[in-house]
Amino acid sequence: MSQQPTVLIVDDDRLNRALLAELLKDDCRLLLAKDGLSGLDIAQREDVSLILLDVSMPGMDGYEVMRRLRANPETADIGVIFITGMAEEEDEEKGLMLGAADYVQKPIRPAIVKARVKVHLKLAAQRRELERLSLQDGLTGIANRRYFDDAFERCLRRAARQGEAMGVAIFDVDHFKQYNDFYGHGAGDEALRQVAAVFSHFTRRPGDVAARYGGEEFVLLMPQASNFADIAEELRQAIVARSIAHARSPTSAVLTLSGGGVIVTQSQGLTTTQLLAQADTLLYRSKNEGRNRVFIDHFSA
Ligand SMILES: [Mg+2]
Repeated sequence: MSQQPTVLIVDDDRLNRALLAELLKDDCRLLLAKDGLSGLDIAQREDVSLILLDVSMPGMDGYEVMRRLRANPETADIGVIFITGMAEEEDEEKGLMLGAADYVQKPIRPAIVKARVKVHLKLAAQRRELERLSLQDGLTGIANRRYFDDAFERCLRRAARQGEAMGVAIFDVDHFKQYNDFYGHGAGDEALRQVAAVFSHFTRRPGDVAARYGGEEFVLLMPQASNFADIAEELRQAIVARSIAHARSPTSAVLTLSGGGVIVTQSQGLTTTQLLAQADTLLYRSKNEGRNRVFIDHFSA
């Protein structure tokens, strides 16, 4: 990845923030916070790879910031280097117990800070790469079910928090067994890759997710998608337009999809399971009413 990693510095001391920023400005994108609460806020909103966290701050100290970072699934995995002023073993121990990756002592020694940050940014990059691979579908290269499940939970929480509309839909390739039986499994795999490519095409905004849910099932997740029904229908048409011949399909001469999905505007208290269950019901309606169609409805409890 060519993009620079982001490091967040949380320190109440302005001079210390400036010193650290000067030291690290060539190695990463920097974000600065002068107290624990704003640090937590930035950590949650931004894609932060590493946090340099001052232990001793008025109001919320570094330990409490650390506890809250770890308690929030969105920030739990961010690497943290404690900056400790007191050079007491007890503090270092406490920090490491709370899950700090490392610590540096004040007064700051530039070479040491630079070296430790470099090591931890490298570890963070490796973690991300492993994570990325474990969240990718091996056949199609798009996201897998595990990625989708996590993204769906995050998206729903966010939608509930911000009162946004979101959409989620399940699609199933029509008569895929017949496709495999007639064209062979190699061709079946290639067809799934082509379907996945169309799905990728429909996820251009941040937060949009297309994933292979399993077998010949795909899912589409869109935050802030008031026109979700139109998008799902366009996607269905785009698959048809791909003109993948399906000589054994009773539905069409080409490969088609059936889909079902929901738009949610009031997501407070709802679970992903509830939403998927209704999407699934609508998918089956599409199947029962002739396939090659998509039903999107507003979620109703
Ligand atoms: Mg301080």
